[in-house]
Amino acid sequence: MEGIKLRFYQSLNDFIRPALRYVEINHPLHRKTSVKDMIESFHVPHTEVEYIFVNGKLVDFSHAVQKGDDIQVYPAGEDWITAGLPRLRPELPTPLKFIVDVNLGKLARNLRLLGMDCRYHNDYGDDTIARISSEEQRIVLTRDRSLLRRKIILYGYYVRADLPVTQTKEVLRRFDLYSQLQPLTRCTHCNGEFGEVDKKTIEHRLQPLTKQHYEHFLMCSNCQQIYWQGGHRANLLNLIKALSTPV
Ligand SMILES: [Zn+2]
Repeated sequence: MEGIKLRFYQSLNDFIRPALRYVEINHPLHRKTSVKDMIESFHVPHTEVEYIFVNGKLVDFSHAVQKGDDIQVYPAGEDWITAGLPRLRPELPTPLKFIVDVNLGKLARNLRLLGMDCRYHNDYGDDTIARISSEEQRIVLTRDRSLLRRKIILYGYYVRADLPVTQTKEVLRRFDLYSQLQPLTRCTHCNGEFGEVDKKTIEHRLQPLTKQHYEHFLMCSNCQQIYWQGGHRANLLNLIKALSTPV
């Protein structure tokens, strides 16, 4: 039976069986299917795909696969093919916003520390994450491939690294966030933005030594947590430096 030819490029090979990586795959076509479903049958989430060529022509996810099709699938970040080509999805407004899956709390904290707008809560279910991503045009960061298969999630990224610091660097690199970083402008607990606050209005909340030694305070506009340039600041600055140094 005549089937199709399929090839995944660069980072998309992370998702497929080793025997199929970086080679032309000959695959049978038993039923009608969209190219999105065909790609995802190889466990590649649609959110990782940036361009699809069928028989040399650019197509979108709805393309109905035909016998004899020669399908080439590319990830984001392949600059050599991006010049002037229409994208599969509209470009997101900057600064980029994220929603982080429940098992990536430290990644969310690190990105907030660097000033990135990251919604995260440890009891968000998949439905909630998908809905918020769609309503607020937020990029889903997850290690759950099945979450990224949902159609309403247009923007997502499967985080490869295991360690939070490496994960943070991976996300900064993938979305080229270095020029958007604004460290210490956002609350790491709740994602609220900091504003300067008059010491007089919060004096009653300060410990005696803090009150004595510090004059400048920031307060989270959302949870009202107070920050000042105390002893923990050096540690935070070291962490910020480590996170925001490109690899
Ligand atoms: Zn807060």
